[in-house]
Amino acid sequence: MRSIIVSSIKLLYRYMYKHYFVMVFVFLLMIVIVMVCEVFTSCMLNKNKKNSSKALLIKNHEFHQFEIMKNGKFFNNVMVHSNILKKHWCFNESLRDINMYNYTVSQNEILSKILIKYSNNGIDASEITLLLQQYPVLRQIKTGQILSWIIITKKKLQCLVWDIFPQEIRVYNRMNTSFTEGIIRFSNQLNDGLSPSILFIGKLSGTFIDSARSLGIEENCIMDITNALQYQLDFHKLHQGDRFSVLISIMMNDDHSIKSKLLGARLCTAGKDYYVFRANNGKLYDREAVRLGGNFIRFPTLKPFRVSSNFNLNRLNPVTGQVSPHAGVDFAVPIGTPVVSVGDGEVIVSAYSKIAGNYVAIRHNCHCTTRYMHLKKLLVKPGQRVKLGDNIALSGNTGRSTGPHLHFEIWINHRPVNPLTTTLLNFEKLLGHERTIYLNQVKEMLPHLCFD
Ligand SMILES: [Zn+2]
Repeated sequence: MRSIIVSSIKLLYRYMYKHYFVMVFVFLLMIVIVMVCEVFTSCMLNKNKKNSSKALLIKNHEFHQFEIMKNGKFFNNVMVHSNILKKHWCFNESLRDINMYNYTVSQNEILSKILIKYSNNGIDASEITLLLQQYPVLRQIKTGQILSWIIITKKKLQCLVWDIFPQEIRVYNRMNTSFTEGIIRFSNQLNDGLSPSILFIGKLSGTFIDSARSLGIEENCIMDITNALQYQLDFHKLHQGDRFSVLISIMMNDDHSIKSKLLGARLCTAGKDYYVFRANNGKLYDREAVRLGGNFIRFPTLKPFRVSSNFNLNRLNPVTGQVSPHAGVDFAVPIGTPVVSVGDGEVIVSAYSKIAGNYVAIRHNCHCTTRYMHLKKLLVKPGQRVKLGDNIALSGNTGRSTGPHLHFEIWINHRPVNPLTTTLLNFEKLLGHERTIYLNQVKEMLPHLCFD
């Protein structure tokens, strides 16, 4: 065995000795080949890198990360810009083919060529024709401006964001067979110039919430508007193309997250304007300084009546001697007296029950419900929206009742509260000096909420 190994080593040694030069040559050749390959591949990579920095394609579930600067206009633009794209991205996530592109315009470039060239031929040319026909202003793109766009299935353009650095961003969203235009403007004029403000101008396409989201308006600001105006107008009855403008201020928290605050908003539908403004106390009011989304009156009748039985959760039944809570207050009201809703809200019950008789329940917000019992005649239907002071019924003596009266309850967070003492439902209107300051602020903000 050992002899075989020894002899084979000897053989190899002799072979290598004989072909020494051939071996060295082969070795050198291999090194050269490897080096050439290295240089070639690195060249190719550099070339690819240049291309990808020009038009960035974001695949599947990756988000485009913008570098966020702390101050100045760039920060505002970037924040809004990324917000718009993120919202579209999340919204269309269920679709299989969704691609997002980002491109900085170079010299003498036009929109159609950019979209075709940098969408990897993934866009239908008719999309661009349609967009340019509707908005010829898009022919005016300039060097250094940033374009971002999203393409969904069937080569369709879903959204184009045009960053007209540094003061304005325009957003073009697909709405069935056409595009809507949204305008976003940056300003440091309001708010004493302390924090920048952003104005969003848009048109309704789909619901108000979706339209506002697609412009990049923060969720908390959208909620403020819908909460404040929910009983002034029916958001389900808005029309496509209705215009709105929203003014917000943005601040940066210590942890570098962004805080947006609604300053004012205008919504125009059926020829009528609805306004919301934030007062210095943080609450939202209308143009006349009347609180929005939080107003109540104390009594469910036009004038107060004598209280015949008080609110008492520990009341003892005089007959059985057992605790029989009285979750509301009874007013000695003659039969046929108009009963009114104590606040804006939605009727959730208008029906007959053995105990309550004819009764109405109204939900005013997610925390508060009111109930009106022993009624003679119901004047509202479930699902109906009512405003503060609207007639909802005529009082009576139906159900388990020993005489004509109106039983009235207020429930807050699923617990009954004393309607005569609760301070949670104060009617609010700014008065005196506060009102003067507020009206001045409104005067200053109004021209900013124009639609042009
Ligand atoms: Zn009662």
